[in-house]
Amino acid sequence: MSHSAFAYVDGVLHAEGVSAVTLAERFGTPLFVYSRAALTEAYQAYAKACEGHRACVHVAVKANGNLAVLNVFARLGAGFDIVSGGELARVLAAGGQAKDIVFSGVGKSEDEMRQALDAGVKCFNVESIAELDRLNAVAGQRGKKAPISLRVNPDVDPKTHPYISTGLKANKFGVAFDEARSAYRAAAALEHLEVVGIDCHIGSQITEIAPYIDALDKLLDLVTQIEADGARIRHIDVGGGLGITYSTETPPETGLFVRTLLARIEARGHGHREVFFEPGRSVTGNAGILLTRVEFLKPGAEKNFAIVDAAMNDLARPAMYQAYHAIDPVVPRQDAPHVYDVVGPVCESGDWLGRERALAIEPGDLLAIRSAGAYSFAMSSNYNTRPRAAEVMVDGGEVHLVRARETVPELFAGESILPR
Ligand SMILES: *Cc1c(COP(=O)(O)O)cnc(C)c1O
Repeated sequence: MSHSAFAYVDGVLHAEGVSAVTLAERFGTPLFVYSRAALTEAYQAYAKACEGHRACVHVAVKANGNLAVLNVFARLGAGFDIVSGGELARVLAAGGQAKDIVFSGVGKSEDEMRQALDAGVKCFNVESIAELDRLNAVAGQRGKKAPISLRVNPDVDPKTHPYISTGLKANKFGVAFDEARSAYRAAAALEHLEVVGIDCHIGSQITEIAPYIDALDKLLDLVTQIEADGARIRHIDVGGGLGITYSTETPPETGLFVRTLLARIEARGHGHREVFFEPGRSVTGNAGILLTRVEFLKPGAEKNFAIVDAAMNDLARPAMYQAYHAIDPVVPRQDAPHVYDVVGPVCESGDWLGRERALAIEPGDLLAIRSAGAYSFAMSSNYNTRPRAAEVMVDGGEVHLVRARETVPELFAGESILPR
């Protein structure tokens, strides 16, 4: 599944059964548009491949935390991977259950640990010895035993952008592979912790299976050693990170990816363990687009600019990772295209959304920025005092406003001026 929920009908881009022109007129721009069918299809590709196995899917909330999006997944039976107390609250508000939540992240505060313990999350993915000690202390105060896995850093290169590769020795994430066995011994000795699994997450936008197999093999070797030391590893969490097609990438199809990993785990004699997947981008990325309107065309000596009403505060990925998002006119014109840098109104040269794009456009035209369902609204900000965009979800021929556009007064409602 890539763009089939967002296709042209009679020369107009549609989201499922609804014209993008209608959406822009009704809700304004910039506007995030999600497709329930696309979210469902992407999630079901994981769930179907897991059928008949002791495997489950925890959707990574950080990719897209909108309550309606999380609720669609919760209705499909998904669990969730969270990285903050805020995300815990989101999942619960969206109809998810704590028993289906794994809690990841390098810097969990005592407060967040308390919230997660009281809610009763399934597992804490612990990333350091210091965190083991903190969690043990907090669990002791609450009279609880915290279920834990250690996030092991298998030191494999996922061949992705340096900012989104997380399983190398030089990354801040996880416990070093060589220290993992002793970290498990330390965990086993702590009274208020219960070792239940092992975890890794090697990066994001990974387009090959090989790095996963490398990481998995190392993890399974470690599991054997850890169990020889007396702990019991009930589950193996292989993390998230499967890539999507933004332009010409050809990631493995989800079903193949899942089946290959499960087969490897079974072939190596670990088929009795439960397997967790933590997809974010691959279940939400291509289920959303960002609609924006062309404000001005600005021809230049070296470059032509198309200045649009969306900006880096709405979609940070190009500015942050030089990420490519396809940009298509909502109502394509037959005129000859010109080459534009598509940029926003924010006062930063880094505020661009697409570079050197051949587009036949006029001021007032609508553009669709593709693949904006993951790390898009979730990373948006109010920089330049820009209210964050509205989000809608299309479901067949219906449209639901799932987050109202922010208003300017809301942006400084919590601020105050000095009394004198
Ligand atoms: C971000 C993250 C994910 C999801 O990654 P994607 O690349 O979006 O699939 C899964 N697990 C952990 C621990 C993460 O930090």
